[in-house]
Amino acid sequence: MRTDGILDRLAALRAADAPTHGGRVLSYVYDPGLAELDELAAAAARAVQPVNGLDPTTFTSVAVMEGELLGFARTMLHGPADGPDAVVGSVTSGGTESCLLAVKIAREAFRAEHPDVRPRVVAPVSVHAAFRKAAQHLDVDLTLVPVDPATGTPAAADLVAALDADDVALVVVSAPSYPHGVVDPVAEVAEAAAARGVPVHVDACVGGWVLPFWAAAGGEAVPPFDFSVPGVTSISADVHKYGYAPKGASVLLVRGRDRQRRQFFATTGWPGYPVVNPTLSGSRSAAPLAAAWAVSQALGTAGYTALTARCVRATHALRAAVDAIDGLRVVGRPTGPLVAVATDGSVPPERRVDPHLWADAVRSLGWVL
Ligand SMILES: *Cc1c(COP(=O)(O)O)cnc(C)c1O
Repeated sequence: MRTDGILDRLAALRAADAPTHGGRVLSYVYDPGLAELDELAAAAARAVQPVNGLDPTTFTSVAVMEGELLGFARTMLHGPADGPDAVVGSVTSGGTESCLLAVKIAREAFRAEHPDVRPRVVAPVSVHAAFRKAAQHLDVDLTLVPVDPATGTPAAADLVAALDADDVALVVVSAPSYPHGVVDPVAEVAEAAAARGVPVHVDACVGGWVLPFWAAAGGEAVPPFDFSVPGVTSISADVHKYGYAPKGASVLLVRGRDRQRRQFFATTGWPGYPVVNPTLSGSRSAAPLAAAWAVSQALGTAGYTALTARCVRATHALRAAVDAIDGLRVVGRPTGPLVAVATDGSVPPERRVDPHLWADAVRSLGWVL
């Protein structure tokens, strides 16, 4: 076997990638700028490289790390630890998987009650495409409620009106939405949904690990979006975004163990081993979990708050820069680190800026928007 040259080739391939460090790529990668944290995550991933996350009873380190990471997330998102409404959860491979599983739980629960009705999911049109994927893969209907084009915000009344049907299995709101960076009216929707017995998923894939620290870090106040809101039944939050973990880690938290059972696939009815899968995968790497666990242990609340403070400053600087460009505007009133930029139609046509041309110009300066 020859190993020489292979890593040199990979290094050459990597050199052609967009830069993952230095903060110039404003999507895809979430660089905390802490070399020590990178090293820790890499070492943790390496330590579990041969482990199979399929069976946490054989590889008990997986169960302990998963429990501790979920415990951190549950506290961060104000979920009760005990009682019939205790928040439980799973570590998944990413936001898409967390969202798919949230829809699966709702579908199974709805089917159990209404075996003859085709289930429907209601969400604002700005909900992440992962829910369109979930509707397709899980064969449920999806009603997309329009948002105000000026602000990207859905009206709570429009979402609530869509709940008045016999086939609604789930309503999804985002904190914040990916396209516009606005926190949807979680409390209003959850109250109306709870009154109708409809479960509520909050997609906090991008916000879940940054909004909890936002106000304490000097950012604007964040409306309640987590388990402190009665009626919120599940939340997705990606550790591989503002949790600053390497890719491959998200959490899906669910209110109530009975509800969570709908997430599982289990069978002893084949000639092989007993299968008990909380997530979509079977055999799976424990590396993303170990890295995410190590990063969360190292940062803790204080570390996340400090990183969020830098994020708040950067977001405000970016917003000020966009505001200073005649012909561009920030869409609506974003809460958190996401900013949508559009043409400012209030200035004369010759001064309006096409955001795509602006993004190209910024790219020529070494940034990826
Ligand atoms: C990123 C994101 C997702 C999908 O997550 P992946 O990790 O890319 O699969 C879902 N919802 C929101 C709001 C997101 O930002």
